[in-house]
Amino acid sequence: MITPRPGILDIQPYVGGESSVPGHNRVVRLASNENPLGASPRAMTAYESLKGELHRYPDGGAMALRWAISEEEGLDPDSIVCGAGSDELISLLMRAYAGPGDEVLHSAHGFLMYPISARTVGATPVAAPEVNLTADVDSLLVKVTPRTRLVFIANPNNPTGSYLSAAELQRLRAGLPGDVLLVVDAAYAEYVDEADYSNGAELVKAGDNVVMIRTFSKIHGLASLRLGWGFCPPAVADILNRVRGPFNVSQSAQEAGVAAIRDREFQRQSAAHNKRWRAWFAGEVAAMGLTACPSAGNFLLVRFPDGADEALATLAALKERGVLVRNMAGYGLPDALRITVGTEEEMRITADALKEIRA
Ligand code: PMP
Repeated sequence: MITPRPGILDIQPYVGGESSVPGHNRVVRLASNENPLGASPRAMTAYESLKGELHRYPDGGAMALRWAISEEEGLDPDSIVCGAGSDELISLLMRAYAGPGDEVLHSAHGFLMYPISARTVGATPVAAPEVNLTADVDSLLVKVTPRTRLVFIANPNNPTGSYLSAAELQRLRAGLPGDVLLVVDAAYAEYVDEADYSNGAELVKAGDNVVMIRTFSKIHGLASLRLGWGFCPPAVADILNRVRGPFNVSQSAQEAGVAAIRDREFQRQSAAHNKRWRAWFAGEVAAMGLTACPSAGNFLLVRFPDGADEALATLAALKERGVLVRNMAGYGLPDALRITVGTEEEMRITADALKEIRA
Protein backbone atom coordinates (compact mmCIF):
# COMPACT_ATOMS: atom_id res chain seq x y z
CA MET A 1 0.00 0.00 0.00
CA ILE A 2 1.20 3.51 -0.73
CA THR A 3 1.22 5.65 2.40
CA PRO A 4 1.90 9.36 2.80
CA ARG A 5 4.53 10.77 5.16
CA PRO A 6 3.69 10.81 8.89
CA GLY A 7 1.31 13.62 9.84
CA ILE A 8 -0.33 14.03 6.44
CA LEU A 9 -3.36 11.96 7.41
CA ASP A 10 -3.86 14.20 10.48
CA ILE A 11 -4.66 17.12 8.17
CA GLN A 12 -8.27 18.24 8.02
CA PRO A 13 -8.45 19.66 4.49
CA TYR A 14 -9.12 23.39 4.29
CA VAL A 15 -12.75 23.97 3.35
CA GLY A 16 -13.20 27.15 1.34
CA GLY A 17 -16.30 29.32 1.43
CA GLU A 18 -19.29 28.07 -0.54
CA SER A 19 -20.12 29.87 -3.77
CA SER A 20 -23.45 28.47 -4.99
CA VAL A 21 -26.82 27.34 -3.64
CA PRO A 22 -28.97 24.89 -5.63
CA GLY A 23 -32.17 26.58 -6.77
CA HIS A 24 -30.74 30.10 -6.47
CA ASN A 25 -29.57 31.89 -9.59
CA ARG A 26 -28.27 34.83 -7.66
CA VAL A 27 -26.29 34.19 -4.54
CA VAL A 28 -24.90 36.69 -2.03
CA ARG A 29 -21.33 35.47 -1.55
CA LEU A 30 -20.01 36.65 1.78
CA ALA A 31 -18.02 33.56 2.75
CA SER A 32 -14.52 34.24 1.39
CA ASN A 33 -13.55 37.85 2.20
CA GLU A 34 -13.44 38.81 -1.47
CA ASN A 35 -13.64 42.41 -2.71
CA PRO A 36 -17.31 43.26 -3.42
CA LEU A 37 -16.23 45.99 -5.87
CA GLY A 38 -14.47 43.39 -8.04
CA ALA A 39 -10.98 44.10 -9.37
CA SER A 40 -9.33 47.33 -10.47
CA PRO A 41 -10.46 48.16 -14.04
CA ARG A 42 -6.79 48.66 -14.90
CA ALA A 43 -5.98 45.13 -13.72
CA MET A 44 -8.83 43.73 -15.83
CA THR A 45 -7.47 45.49 -18.93
CA ALA A 46 -3.99 44.12 -18.26
CA TYR A 47 -5.40 40.61 -17.84
CA GLU A 48 -7.45 40.81 -21.05
CA SER A 49 -4.48 41.94 -23.12
CA LEU A 50 -2.57 38.72 -22.48
CA LYS A 51 -4.57 36.19 -24.46
CA GLY A 52 -2.12 36.23 -27.39
CA GLU A 53 0.72 35.28 -25.01
CA LEU A 54 -0.71 32.13 -23.43
CA HIS A 55 1.94 29.93 -25.04
CA ARG A 56 4.78 31.86 -23.34
CA TYR A 57 6.25 31.04 -19.95
CA PRO A 58 5.89 33.77 -17.37
CA ASP A 59 8.84 35.88 -16.18
CA GLY A 60 10.23 33.57 -13.48
CA GLY A 61 11.77 36.50 -11.63
CA ALA A 62 8.55 38.57 -11.65
CA MET A 63 10.75 41.61 -12.27
CA ALA A 64 8.11 44.14 -13.32
CA LEU A 65 5.82 43.15 -10.47
CA ARG A 66 8.57 43.31 -7.85
CA TRP A 67 9.54 46.75 -9.17
CA ALA A 68 5.97 47.99 -9.01
CA ILE A 69 5.55 46.70 -5.46
CA SER A 70 8.89 48.16 -4.45
CA GLU A 71 7.97 51.60 -5.80
CA GLU A 72 4.49 51.66 -4.31
CA GLU A 73 5.55 50.33 -0.91
CA GLY A 74 9.03 51.82 -0.67
CA LEU A 75 10.78 48.46 -0.30
CA ASP A 76 13.89 46.91 -1.85
CA PRO A 77 12.79 44.79 -4.86
CA ASP A 78 15.48 42.19 -4.11
CA SER A 79 13.78 41.53 -0.78
CA ILE A 80 10.43 40.76 -2.43
CA VAL A 81 9.42 37.22 -3.39
CA CYS A 82 6.15 36.60 -5.23
CA GLY A 83 3.96 33.55 -4.89
CA ALA A 84 0.75 31.95 -6.10
CA GLY A 85 -1.30 33.57 -3.37
CA SER A 86 0.05 34.22 0.11
CA ASP A 87 -0.93 30.61 0.75
CA GLU A 88 2.07 29.62 -1.36
CA LEU A 89 4.38 31.85 0.66
CA ILE A 90 3.10 30.23 3.87
CA SER A 91 3.84 26.84 2.42
CA LEU A 92 7.29 27.84 1.08
CA LEU A 93 8.25 29.22 4.50
CA MET A 94 7.14 25.97 6.12
CA ARG A 95 9.08 23.84 3.65
CA ALA A 96 12.21 25.94 4.04
CA TYR A 97 12.25 26.34 7.81
CA ALA A 98 10.26 23.57 9.52
CA GLY A 99 10.13 19.80 9.46
CA PRO A 100 9.50 16.74 11.63
CA GLY A 101 10.14 17.47 15.30
CA ASP A 102 9.84 21.24 14.83
CA GLU A 103 7.07 23.40 16.23
CA VAL A 104 5.16 26.13 14.44
CA LEU A 105 3.44 28.59 16.75
CA HIS A 106 0.24 30.50 16.04
CA SER A 107 -2.58 32.03 18.07
CA ALA A 108 -5.60 29.90 18.98
CA HIS A 109 -7.99 31.37 16.41
CA GLY A 110 -5.33 32.23 13.85
CA PHE A 111 -5.68 31.61 10.11
CA LEU A 112 -6.20 27.87 9.53
CA MET A 113 -3.57 27.49 6.83
CA TYR A 114 -0.83 27.83 9.48
CA PRO A 115 -1.56 24.51 11.27
CA ILE A 116 -2.54 22.82 8.01
CA SER A 117 0.64 23.87 6.26
CA ALA A 118 2.78 22.96 9.30
CA ARG A 119 1.42 19.41 9.18
CA THR A 120 2.21 19.05 5.49
CA VAL A 121 5.93 19.25 6.33
CA GLY A 122 5.62 16.98 9.39
CA ALA A 123 6.00 19.85 11.87
CA THR A 124 3.79 20.23 14.95
CA PRO A 125 1.44 23.22 15.09
CA VAL A 126 1.18 24.77 18.56
CA ALA A 127 -1.70 27.13 19.43
CA ALA A 128 -1.32 29.85 22.07
CA PRO A 129 -4.46 31.04 23.88
CA GLU A 130 -5.92 34.40 22.92
CA VAL A 131 -7.36 37.11 25.15
CA ASN A 132 -10.63 38.67 23.95
CA LEU A 133 -10.20 36.88 20.61
CA THR A 134 -6.91 38.71 20.13
CA ALA A 135 -3.44 37.18 19.87
CA ASP A 136 -1.65 37.56 23.21
CA VAL A 137 2.08 38.21 23.16
CA ASP A 138 2.71 36.77 26.63
CA SER A 139 0.81 33.54 25.86
CA LEU A 140 2.71 33.17 22.59
CA LEU A 141 6.07 33.67 24.32
CA VAL A 142 5.19 31.09 27.02
CA LYS A 143 4.64 28.51 24.27
CA VAL A 144 8.08 28.98 22.72
CA THR A 145 10.37 25.94 23.16
CA PRO A 146 13.78 25.03 21.72
CA ARG A 147 11.83 23.31 18.93
CA THR A 148 9.96 26.43 17.81
CA ARG A 149 11.07 27.45 14.32
CA LEU A 150 8.31 29.74 13.04
CA VAL A 151 5.67 32.01 14.58
CA PHE A 152 2.73 33.09 12.38
CA ILE A 153 0.62 36.13 13.23
CA ALA A 154 -2.16 37.27 10.93
CA ASN A 155 -2.42 41.00 11.54
CA PRO A 156 -5.30 41.76 11.41
CA ASN A 157 -6.35 38.20 12.04
CA ASN A 158 -8.83 36.21 10.00
CA PRO A 159 -11.44 35.31 11.28
CA THR A 160 -11.51 37.42 14.47
CA GLY A 161 -10.74 40.80 12.87
CA SER A 162 -8.55 41.75 15.83
CA TYR A 163 -5.00 43.08 15.47
CA LEU A 164 -1.83 43.57 17.45
CA SER A 165 -0.47 47.11 17.72
CA ALA A 166 2.97 47.90 16.30
CA ALA A 167 4.30 48.05 19.86
CA GLU A 168 2.92 44.61 20.72
CA LEU A 169 4.32 43.12 17.53
CA GLN A 170 7.69 44.59 18.40
CA ARG A 171 7.44 43.16 21.91
CA LEU A 172 6.69 39.74 20.41
CA ARG A 173 9.77 39.92 18.17
CA ALA A 174 11.94 41.10 21.05
CA GLY A 175 10.80 38.19 23.22
CA LEU A 176 11.46 35.49 20.61
CA PRO A 177 14.84 33.76 20.29
CA GLY A 178 16.88 35.08 17.37
CA ASP A 179 16.68 31.80 15.46
CA VAL A 180 12.87 31.80 15.36
CA LEU A 181 11.38 33.38 12.23
CA LEU A 182 8.36 35.64 12.86
CA VAL A 183 5.93 35.77 9.93
CA VAL A 184 3.57 38.76 9.93
CA ASP A 185 0.69 37.95 7.59
CA ALA A 186 -0.74 41.34 6.68
CA ALA A 187 -3.36 40.07 4.19
CA TYR A 188 -5.86 42.71 5.35
CA ALA A 189 -3.38 45.57 6.02
CA GLU A 190 -4.89 47.94 3.46
CA TYR A 191 -8.22 47.99 5.32
CA VAL A 192 -6.73 49.08 8.64
CA ASP A 193 -6.69 52.74 9.57
CA GLU A 194 -6.01 52.52 13.29
CA ALA A 195 -3.05 54.76 14.13
CA ASP A 196 -1.23 52.21 16.30
CA TYR A 197 -1.14 49.61 13.49
CA SER A 198 1.87 48.70 11.37
CA ASN A 199 1.97 46.12 8.58
CA GLY A 200 5.30 44.77 9.85
CA ALA A 201 7.58 46.10 7.08
CA GLU A 202 9.58 48.16 9.58
CA LEU A 203 10.21 45.06 11.69
CA VAL A 204 11.46 43.20 8.62
CA LYS A 205 13.92 46.02 7.92
CA ALA A 206 15.08 46.11 11.53
CA GLY A 207 16.58 42.62 11.62
CA ASP A 208 17.07 39.32 9.87
CA ASN A 209 14.28 37.23 11.34
CA VAL A 210 10.91 38.76 10.38
CA VAL A 211 8.99 38.24 7.13
CA MET A 212 5.87 40.15 6.07
CA ILE A 213 3.48 38.46 3.64
CA ARG A 214 0.77 40.19 1.60
CA THR A 215 -1.94 39.21 -0.84
CA PHE A 216 -3.62 40.54 -3.98
CA SER A 217 -6.76 38.52 -3.13
CA LYS A 218 -8.37 41.07 -0.79
CA ILE A 219 -8.24 44.81 -1.47
CA HIS A 220 -6.89 44.28 -5.00
CA GLY A 221 -9.72 41.88 -5.85
CA LEU A 222 -7.52 39.35 -7.69
CA ALA A 223 -8.31 36.20 -5.67
CA SER A 224 -8.89 34.17 -8.81
CA LEU A 225 -5.41 34.87 -10.18
CA ARG A 226 -3.58 33.60 -7.05
CA LEU A 227 -1.04 36.28 -6.25
CA GLY A 228 0.81 37.16 -3.08
CA TRP A 229 4.22 38.42 -2.05
CA GLY A 230 6.63 38.41 0.83
CA PHE A 231 9.00 41.12 2.04
CA CYS A 232 11.96 39.27 3.51
CA PRO A 233 15.45 39.76 4.88
CA PRO A 234 17.91 39.08 2.00
CA ALA A 235 18.92 35.65 3.34
CA VAL A 236 15.27 34.54 3.59
CA ALA A 237 14.50 35.84 0.09
CA ASP A 238 17.44 33.80 -1.18
CA ILE A 239 16.08 30.67 0.50
CA LEU A 240 12.52 31.17 -0.82
CA ASN A 241 13.89 31.69 -4.33
CA ARG A 242 15.62 28.32 -4.07
CA VAL A 243 12.51 26.53 -2.82
CA ARG A 244 9.83 28.02 -5.07
CA GLY A 245 8.96 26.68 -8.51
CA PRO A 246 10.75 28.55 -11.32
CA PHE A 247 7.45 29.81 -12.80
CA ASN A 248 5.28 29.88 -9.69
CA VAL A 249 3.34 33.02 -10.67
CA SER A 250 1.45 33.22 -13.97
CA GLN A 251 2.08 36.12 -16.34
CA SER A 252 -1.58 37.12 -16.08
CA ALA A 253 -1.24 37.42 -12.33
CA GLN A 254 1.99 39.40 -12.63
CA GLU A 255 0.64 41.92 -15.12
CA ALA A 256 -2.73 42.33 -13.42
CA GLY A 257 -0.79 42.71 -10.16
CA VAL A 258 1.33 45.56 -11.57
CA ALA A 259 -1.81 47.42 -12.67
CA ALA A 260 -3.61 46.73 -9.39
CA ILE A 261 -0.85 47.87 -7.05
CA ARG A 262 -0.56 51.13 -9.01
CA ASP A 263 -4.32 51.76 -8.91
CA ARG A 264 -4.42 53.70 -5.66
CA GLU A 265 -7.85 55.11 -6.44
CA PHE A 266 -9.41 51.64 -6.58
CA GLN A 267 -7.72 50.70 -3.31
CA ARG A 268 -8.98 53.91 -1.70
CA GLN A 269 -12.54 53.28 -2.89
CA SER A 270 -12.44 49.69 -1.68
CA ALA A 271 -11.20 50.68 1.77
CA ALA A 272 -13.78 53.47 2.07
CA HIS A 273 -16.61 51.18 1.00
CA ASN A 274 -15.46 48.56 3.49
CA LYS A 275 -15.28 51.01 6.38
CA ARG A 276 -18.74 52.39 5.71
CA TRP A 277 -20.61 49.11 5.29
CA ARG A 278 -18.70 47.26 7.99
CA ALA A 279 -19.82 49.92 10.48
CA TRP A 280 -23.37 49.93 9.15
CA PHE A 281 -23.69 46.14 9.33
CA ALA A 282 -22.13 46.00 12.82
CA GLY A 283 -24.81 48.48 13.94
CA GLU A 284 -27.60 46.39 12.40
CA VAL A 285 -26.30 43.24 14.03
CA ALA A 286 -25.98 44.93 17.44
CA ALA A 287 -29.58 46.13 17.17
CA MET A 288 -30.60 42.47 16.76
CA GLY A 289 -28.93 41.55 20.05
CA LEU A 290 -25.92 39.90 18.44
CA THR A 291 -22.27 40.76 18.95
CA ALA A 292 -20.08 41.72 16.02
CA CYS A 293 -16.47 41.65 17.20
CA PRO A 294 -14.59 44.87 16.40
CA SER A 295 -12.91 44.20 13.05
CA ALA A 296 -10.02 45.85 11.26
CA GLY A 297 -10.55 43.65 8.19
CA ASN A 298 -13.16 43.29 5.42
CA PHE A 299 -15.37 40.95 7.44
CA LEU A 300 -17.17 40.70 10.77
CA LEU A 301 -17.22 37.83 13.22
CA VAL A 302 -20.76 37.65 14.54
CA ARG A 303 -21.40 35.68 17.74
CA PHE A 304 -24.71 34.10 18.71
CA PRO A 305 -25.71 34.26 22.37
CA ASP A 306 -27.42 30.86 22.27
CA GLY A 307 -24.28 29.19 20.98
CA ALA A 308 -23.38 26.70 18.25
CA ASP A 309 -26.92 25.48 17.49
CA GLU A 310 -28.12 29.01 16.88
CA ALA A 311 -25.10 29.81 14.69
CA LEU A 312 -25.61 26.66 12.60
CA ALA A 313 -29.35 27.22 12.25
CA THR A 314 -28.69 30.81 11.14
CA LEU A 315 -26.08 29.63 8.62
CA ALA A 316 -28.65 27.23 7.13
CA ALA A 317 -31.47 29.78 7.15
CA LEU A 318 -29.27 32.36 5.42
CA LYS A 319 -28.30 29.78 2.82
CA GLU A 320 -31.97 29.02 2.14
CA ARG A 321 -32.31 32.72 1.34
CA GLY A 322 -29.30 32.60 -0.99
CA VAL A 323 -26.86 34.24 1.45
CA LEU A 324 -23.56 32.41 1.99
CA VAL A 325 -21.47 33.20 5.06
CA ARG A 326 -18.76 31.18 6.78
CA ASN A 327 -19.13 28.55 9.48
CA MET A 328 -16.48 29.02 12.17
CA ALA A 329 -16.50 25.61 13.87
CA GLY A 330 -13.16 24.72 12.24
CA TYR A 331 -11.67 27.78 13.96
CA GLY A 332 -12.86 26.69 17.39
CA LEU A 333 -15.61 29.33 17.29
CA PRO A 334 -18.77 27.22 16.80
CA ASP A 335 -21.03 29.99 18.17
CA ALA A 336 -19.93 32.42 15.45
CA LEU A 337 -20.33 33.12 11.74
CA ARG A 338 -17.94 35.20 9.67
CA ILE A 339 -19.62 37.60 7.28
CA THR A 340 -17.65 39.41 4.57
CA VAL A 341 -18.49 43.05 3.89
CA GLY A 342 -20.28 42.94 0.52
CA THR A 343 -21.91 45.57 -1.67
CA GLU A 344 -24.51 47.89 -0.14
CA GLU A 345 -27.25 45.75 -1.65
CA GLU A 346 -25.70 42.55 -0.29
CA MET A 347 -25.39 44.00 3.20
CA ARG A 348 -29.00 45.16 3.16
CA ILE A 349 -30.21 41.76 1.91
CA THR A 350 -28.19 40.00 4.60
CA ALA A 351 -29.37 42.30 7.42
CA ASP A 352 -33.00 41.85 6.29
CA ALA A 353 -32.55 38.07 6.11
CA LEU A 354 -31.08 37.98 9.62
CA LYS A 355 -33.97 40.08 10.96
CA GLU A 356 -36.47 37.75 9.33
CA ILE A 357 -34.72 34.67 10.70
CA ARG A 358 -34.65 36.11 14.23
CA ALA A 359 -38.22 37.47 14.18
N1 PMP B 1 -3.65 34.97 5.17
C1 PMP B 1 -4.83 35.31 5.67
C2 PMP B 1 -4.87 35.89 7.05
C3 PMP B 1 -6.00 35.09 4.93
O1 PMP B 1 -7.19 35.39 5.47
C4 PMP B 1 -5.92 34.54 3.64
C5 PMP B 1 -7.13 34.31 2.78
N2 PMP B 1 -8.19 33.71 3.36
C6 PMP B 1 -4.65 34.21 3.17
C7 PMP B 1 -3.54 34.45 3.94
C8 PMP B 1 -4.45 33.56 1.84
O2 PMP B 1 -4.75 34.39 0.81
P1 PMP B 1 -4.27 34.12 -0.68
O3 PMP B 1 -3.64 32.77 -0.75
O4 PMP B 1 -5.50 34.23 -1.50
O5 PMP B 1 -3.27 35.20 -0.96
